[in-house]
Amino acid sequence: MPDTPLNNAPAMDPEEILAGIKRWVHVESPSEDAAAVNRMMDQAEADFRTTTPHVERVPGSEGWGDHLIARSPWGEGPGILVLSHLDTVHPMGVLADDNPYRIEDGKVYGPGIYDMKAGAFIAQYAFQNLIRRGVETPLPITFLLVSEEEVGSPTSRALIEKLGSENKYVLVTEPAREGGKIVTARKGVARFEMRAEGRPSHAGAWHQEGRSAIHELARQIVDIEAMTDYDRGVTFNVGRITGGTGVNVVPQHAWAEIDMRVPDAEIADEMEAKILALNAHDPDVTLTVTGGMNRPPYEMTEGVTALFQHARKCAAELGFELEHCPPTGGGSDGNFTAALGIPTLDGMGCDGHGAHTLEEFIYYDSMVERARLMERMFETLT
Ligand SMILES: [Zn+2]
Repeated sequence: MPDTPLNNAPAMDPEEILAGIKRWVHVESPSEDAAAVNRMMDQAEADFRTTTPHVERVPGSEGWGDHLIARSPWGEGPGILVLSHLDTVHPMGVLADDNPYRIEDGKVYGPGIYDMKAGAFIAQYAFQNLIRRGVETPLPITFLLVSEEEVGSPTSRALIEKLGSENKYVLVTEPAREGGKIVTARKGVARFEMRAEGRPSHAGAWHQEGRSAIHELARQIVDIEAMTDYDRGVTFNVGRITGGTGVNVVPQHAWAEIDMRVPDAEIADEMEAKILALNAHDPDVTLTVTGGMNRPPYEMTEGVTALFQHARKCAAELGFELEHCPPTGGGSDGNFTAALGIPTLDGMGCDGHGAHTLEEFIYYDSMVERARLMERMFETLT
């Protein structure tokens, strides 16, 4: 289908967008490799500099990569914050071996393409298109591209919250869901560590003297997993365990790492209190639980609903229907801004499938559609 220009706007060129996404995918950027992520930031910075002189690099800290801020040359005061991350979950080298950049049956593959190099790129492209057309939007636009979202944004969270608070709206370029659905709510994410300390002893000669930390932990794991309640949207996953020193020793130590997802702040408080208050079944074993919320729940408030309705209208003008998906279990940096009450719309990136896998792809056809939606949001938000 030809890309019909709206308001005499020049048509967007899918091949030009594809070339840019390809360029970004070819700079591999695993979160843990700060030098690699910084090479990706160099690429993004160079692209933004072709459109605006207001580009700022925030040096990385704690061993993570840099963050990048780019601002429209026009406008003052609260505007639109576009939130992206340029790190991926894929280790260096998968581009050459397991997941080369390729196009098959209208799907474009490559590490990090869906989550979220394509989304981050099309936002930049939409902005570039405005500049080409000589259009100044009613609100100023700020882009924040962070380096460590996939590990929970340890060093960018404060910056995300600061820039979020300075703006009226937040658009997050995480991938759209199957069928191009947008994200208007995300569960909150918590992480906990549980340590059990028992009493070591010889598993043969002095078995009765021992108090097994692994036995205690095993009972706790059954209790924790039983707290999962799909009807209330609460899940617990004990994702890692370790313990013991040898098969003939009653184990003194055992440890588990727990992931919790909750739909709203009230349930978050309730469940957090519950897990932190767990006691050992065996009075001779010491149980310690630490941790808490990493990303607060992102709830579909009135502000989010209004922003979604606006996006729907823009999509309708562009000739497609925009839907939103049920609250997703995956957290994003949008959780931080939504929890502060700033209307946040997520899933503004390209449609595709397979995030965090070697099969991830975007649909070729979704590139122009999503870039135009982004551009239209920039043009019409007031
Ligand atoms: Zn992502």
